[in-house]
Amino acid sequence: MSNIQFSQGVSSINISGIRKLFEAAGPNAINLGIGQPDFDTPSNIKAAAVKAIEDGFTGYTAGLGIPELRNAISDKFKRENGFEVTSDQIMVTSGASEALYITAAALVSPGDEVLIPNPGFLAYKSIVNMLNGKDVSVKMKEDLTIDPNDVLEKITPKTKALILNSPGNPTGAVSSKEDIKALAEIAEDKNITIISDEVYEYFIYEGSHTSPAQFSDNVVTVNAFSKSYSMTGWRVGYLAAKGDYVGQILKVHQYLQACASSIGQKAALEAITGPQESVTIMKNEFKERRDFLIKGLHEIGINCVTPQGAFYAFPEVKNCDEAAATLLKNDVVVTPGTAFGENGKDHIRISYASSMENIEKALKIMEKVL
Ligand code: PLP
Repeated sequence: MSNIQFSQGVSSINISGIRKLFEAAGPNAINLGIGQPDFDTPSNIKAAAVKAIEDGFTGYTAGLGIPELRNAISDKFKRENGFEVTSDQIMVTSGASEALYITAAALVSPGDEVLIPNPGFLAYKSIVNMLNGKDVSVKMKEDLTIDPNDVLEKITPKTKALILNSPGNPTGAVSSKEDIKALAEIAEDKNITIISDEVYEYFIYEGSHTSPAQFSDNVVTVNAFSKSYSMTGWRVGYLAAKGDYVGQILKVHQYLQACASSIGQKAALEAITGPQESVTIMKNEFKERRDFLIKGLHEIGINCVTPQGAFYAFPEVKNCDEAAATLLKNDVVVTPGTAFGENGKDHIRISYASSMENIEKALKIMEKVL
């Protein structure tokens, strides 16, 4: 028998029940549990990948990613997000997932505390625990955005970082510019790092996106092509930060050999520099579905804060596990709120990255069974 000792964090991670839930669903189930756009990758992006293969662009790339892509990302940050980083302060990663992991790995030593939104994207807690760090939950305000006052209260001498996710998964909530600025000021005052996960940046239906890196240099901005360009399977993400962050994070990244493929990077270059109509089409479609879903939920008497971004709604239910199980029995897959942390217990997450027809059918079933 092997006597390998795995890190404490790994043994304490609960394997997500979400996958099991999906597996239990019948073949005709309406799946409102999925976290990816139900659109194909735009054809100009696919064509760029084919061209990359035909041009023999199939070898290893630089550890930080191909320079043209990093230059294009640097331009994007300046143009759209109001902060400047050089292309050497940008790293292309294997999706946002890798960016989140290697950033945390570079920052967190055993026993360090990381503030995470609760409810929040489930990888945050797992990543922190895998590194033998301690996840500390931050409460949401009534509008489901992260509460800067609670962040301030929870900071201790051991706090290393805060993970911020606006627009948020599972809530769809978008933090105000004032709150983002307040959080950036807290990060400066308390000398902690904000890891800002901005993967839903392009799906905001009211208001606009604010990057904390506009206000502070203590920020690692994480983003990806996955959701914005319907490229979840391509595994291209990136991170950016001023100062020495990228140099430190590279120490982790270089041994993972986890760079996005050279072909994927060429496709991503086309995504970021080519026509952006596909993003607008997706966003408009998601907004229509959101309006329809929220109106439908309200009409059947289910409370739900109107999500301003992403493609999730987070309505209130009495018991999330029971509600999700009842819906599953009736062929509708949603995710119980506790999958995103204890504070999600009175909610289910509904993804509207599914057709209007499916949303309509699901609403009728919810009216009957919830
Ligand atoms: N961050 C958030 C908030 C997400 O919801 C997801 C995926 O669902 C990710 C990161 C992972 O993104 P990627 O597929 O680029 O690794």
